Amino acid sequence: MAVPWALPWLKVSLLSTHREMGGQRRFQATRCQRCGLHETLCACESAPRVELGTPIVVVQHNKDCRKPTNTVRILTACLPNCAVTRYAVRGAEFDPAPFTSAGEVDWCLLFPRTDDAQVTDAPRQLGVDEFRRGSCRDRRRGIVVVDGTWAQARRMRRRLDALRSLPTFQLPPGPVTRWTVRSQSDPGRMSTAEATIRALAICEGATALRPVQRYFNLVSARMMFMKSALSTPEVPAEWSDDVIFEESLILEERDTSSGTTDTSSG
Ligand SMILES: [Zn+2]
Repeated sequence: MAVPWALPWLKVSLLSTHREMGGQRRFQATRCQRCGLHETLCACESAPRVELGTPIVVVQHNKDCRKPTNTVRILTACLPNCAVTRYAVRGAEFDPAPFTSAGEVDWCLLFPRTDDAQVTDAPRQLGVDEFRRGSCRDRRRGIVVVDGTWAQARRMRRRLDALRSLPTFQLPPGPVTRWTVRSQSDPGRMSTAEATIRALAICEGATALRPVQRYFNLVSARMMFMKSALSTPEVPAEWSDDVIFEESLILEERDTSSGTTDTSSG
């Protein structure tokens, strides 16, 4: 009696399994372990090495680190001053040392302003000027970035004393994300790499970050090509290398013209 129903069901089931397997095979095409792209599209040779005075520490949720679409690999490929410490590693304590032991650095957390009722003891938000200059002359600004889904990021901040005790900085408005290989529910959200590049541009000047932005664009275009979101792996002509902000928030012009850069004191 059940046979007339069972056969069509079996057919549908086999078809969908076949489709899933096809998708799975494409997904498992050999990828470069460093850049996350298919080996034929590997971008590692194009990664610039950009030495910056502003250290970065990424607090990365362990569940996110192996995803090919994770953008922290773009930062570590380009920035020798970028360290990663992982949260929720089975059997391992979280190690905040990369941003608590460096005494000469004024660390702050890059984090969107939230009204998280469970973080009642959060220190203050920094304005753009203070973020850029640090609290005093002989300390460098250091930036801590949280990497994971939005829910993971909020949870990490809530649970980790070392994060909760840091002053926070929220990026000023900028262009919408180019990293569309992950769906963003909120157009204001962006990848960890983009947020970090923009924050660094405020401290170091947009020009210094242009090679990193260019590499980010290259990886983005190739990743979007892999996901069939672009028809070729080439970077679209309309994608700028500029790390764009509202002009009033780019303070480098003001500083370079004032002649009071820290390096002049020798
Ligand atoms: Zn590669």
